[in-house]
Amino acid sequence: MQLVEETPYRFRIDPRGPMRVPGVVFTSRALATDDGALEQVANVATLPGIVRASYAMPDVHWGYGFPIGGVAATDVRAGGVVSPGGVGFDISCGVRLLAADLERSDFHRVAERIMDGLSRETPRGAGRGAVWQLPGDGLLRLLTEGARYAVERGWGGQRDLDRCEDGGAVPDADPDRVSTRARDRGLGQVGSLGSGNHFLEVQAVDAVYDERTATAFGLHLDQVCVMIHCGSRGLGHQICTDHVRRMDETMADRGITVPDRQLACAPADSPDGRAYLAAMAAAANYARANRHVLGVAAGEVLREVTGRGLDLVYDTSHNLARIEQHDVDGDRRTLCVHRKGATRALPPGHPELPPDLREVGQPVLIPGSMGTASYVLAGVPEGDAFHSTCHGAGRTRSRHQAARTTDARQLRRDLERHGVVVRGNSARGLAEEAPTAYKDVDAVVSVAEGAGLCRKVARLVPLGVVKG
Ligand code: 5GP
Ligand code: MN
Ligand code: MN
Repeated sequence: MQLVEETPYRFRIDPRGPMRVPGVVFTSRALATDDGALEQVANVATLPGIVRASYAMPDVHWGYGFPIGGVAATDVRAGGVVSPGGVGFDISCGVRLLAADLERSDFHRVAERIMDGLSRETPRGAGRGAVWQLPGDGLLRLLTEGARYAVERGWGGQRDLDRCEDGGAVPDADPDRVSTRARDRGLGQVGSLGSGNHFLEVQAVDAVYDERTATAFGLHLDQVCVMIHCGSRGLGHQICTDHVRRMDETMADRGITVPDRQLACAPADSPDGRAYLAAMAAAANYARANRHVLGVAAGEVLREVTGRGLDLVYDTSHNLARIEQHDVDGDRRTLCVHRKGATRALPPGHPELPPDLREVGQPVLIPGSMGTASYVLAGVPEGDAFHSTCHGAGRTRSRHQAARTTDARQLRRDLERHGVVVRGNSARGLAEEAPTAYKDVDAVVSVAEGAGLCRKVARLVPLGVVKG
């Protein structure tokens, strides 16, 4: 794939064939690799109604239809489509960061006890088991009210809603658009991590780049934090499966052709499009509540062992489509913004930010790997790609490749020698997520900042990890 260098951090794929807009890849000469993801960036550029460009973030890698690390916005009033593949199977997968009232030096004495407690209280793996057994009509309420319902039932408090995207619940969710099979899969999984790329990690703030913003976020140097990465479990997966199938069947009748069947889509403002968006919103609420209760459970463990609690820094999702208003070519337009493995990064002053963050911008949470670093970033005023940035380090090796080339026992020893307490779930799961399977997160974040997508606020390093 031919990349035209526009700046050291911004490259263009010129339109050819059925591409309606160019591709824009935020990367650098050093970071750019191609595992087929750039072909996918070009494919996404063919979608009906796409505006400006098909974007790729610096952590881009190959995904189902759309690349992971892709951003694409379509004009809803001009037949623009929504595509479940542009959100991904783990709808509203995301990251929650909590800050402990505890210093790094306090952690080491109690590390094993805390990690044992977190391991015990954090259900994970493909099997059943969840922190919260919902009451009778609980799932329906959870799908419409998200984390707000959890708070109403005694989990956490107002801070958890103020510091969660969308105040803990997205509007327009319709549980009637969620199949019985999807609901059945989701019922017993509220408060569970899922498989290996998902984790609960204890971290320490290792560097602060902007003191004022870090303070507003609730972070300081050497503070202990807990980062949780998970999504909507079997419920979201089933919703994606159901709606991809439906759109795949109806696409031809609508005269829509796409270069890859995995890009199945429907106009956002059509019965199929609206049905998907309503089901997707329900899964987004599920995912918010899932991370919320896992966070509360982690806080209880910490309090039990240390007498200190956890405060929410922020909760962001990195697999979602949203209906947003943006200025395009001088017009205010209603867009369906797909972010798949990409994080929204609201600029300072944005009305959707809670008042105490309005001056500094939105916290953006970037996991790296269990053996390297993770980052807290902030949205910037001129943020590109509809105010989006990366979501992680991004894979360089597939799970399969990583599992084949990694000795899980050796990996665990290496991590422990570097001071990371490991509570795995399976040897294979650990190997699939070896730090060497990911790009260099420091480089990815520097490119994102250099490209003007966000700015660095703090760097976190792992102290202990509970792996899905
Ligand atoms: P994804 O949502 O694409 O599965 O993962 C997001 C990012 O999480 C990955 O790109 C990777 O950088 C990061 N990641 C995966 N496993 C771990 C982990 O155990 N700890 C941390 N801190 N990051 C991880
Ligand atoms: Mn996920
Ligand atoms: Mn994720």
